[in-house]
Amino acid sequence: MKNNENTLHFDRVALIGIGLIGSSLARVLRRDGLAGHIAVCSNTHATLDKAKELGLADGSEYDARQAVDGADLVVLCTPLGAYGRIAEVMAPGLKPGCIVTDVGSVKQCVISDVGPHVPEGCHLVPAHPVAGTEHSGPEAGFAELFHDRFCIVTPPPGTDQAAVDTVIALWKAAGSKVESMSAHHHDSVLAMTSHLPHLIAYTIVGTATDLSDHLMMEVVKYSAGGFRDFTRIAASDPVMWRDVFLSNRESVLDVLGRFTEDLTALQRAIRWGEGDKLQELFTRTREIRRGVIDAKQA
Ligand code: NAP
Repeated sequence: MKNNENTLHFDRVALIGIGLIGSSLARVLRRDGLAGHIAVCSNTHATLDKAKELGLADGSEYDARQAVDGADLVVLCTPLGAYGRIAEVMAPGLKPGCIVTDVGSVKQCVISDVGPHVPEGCHLVPAHPVAGTEHSGPEAGFAELFHDRFCIVTPPPGTDQAAVDTVIALWKAAGSKVESMSAHHHDSVLAMTSHLPHLIAYTIVGTATDLSDHLMMEVVKYSAGGFRDFTRIAASDPVMWRDVFLSNRESVLDVLGRFTEDLTALQRAIRWGEGDKLQELFTRTREIRRGVIDAKQA
């Protein structure tokens, strides 16, 4: 493994999980020649075969212990609920000095589920590329996914600085803007910016599916009125999102409590015809949208 001013290069990278995010990272490694050998591990042989067919894997292993053999970089790219078991299985195969990182959407659970299995002399540097689509699987990935998007690294206090710098260099090579913060802070911020919006989308689309068949057809027909945008978010991978909510329970319940209060206040304002309250809120939220556009996040 080399990480100096001009060169970032890994002799062997192991990607555990090769879906949307894992395969996008594999494409970056291939495009920029950052890895001598890419070993891929997945849950099913069909996905391993597909990764090989797409030219994303030099070696494919069903067993995480075999996949990490000799790797200087291991990246966990599976749903969060699988992390603990994978870490336990792969731990005896980790070579001294190896960096273990991940792409999961929640970060405190990585430290608690994976951390205890990482042997002395190996380095855990959790990371979250804040980039994605509603699609899954190795065919869904593309190298440009991370370009100009944030990647948040959350190394626990005392993490080896050279290992942190290497993970930062990897995401910069992928075109990301890298920020560093505590795992706790990450989980609070993402509960609001990502997890709550997904929960709302799942709820709205779920409410629509409970309507009568006739009304449901009308909802689909006239979906461009706003519903359509929620259906895109609510089409996101069910297993991945189940694990996000279960792994970030506390922060999600916190923002959900606030959201429920605000929704009740709006309900009241509508019932009592308090147009000024509605207009005041909608004016404030319009400003937020302008801020998002100015920050080039639109
Ligand atoms: P995905 O497309 O559904 O791919 C998941 C991959 O993990 C598949 O290759 C799957 O294998 C594999 N896998 C599942 N359980 C496994 C196990 N026990 N052992 C080995 N491999 C296993 O998911 P994704 O969207 O790439 O998400 C992966 C991670 O990225 C998640 O932790 C998520 O929180 C994070 N993330 C996602 C997004 C997003 O928008 N999608 C954005 C940022 C971060 P099979 O196909 O063989 O079942």
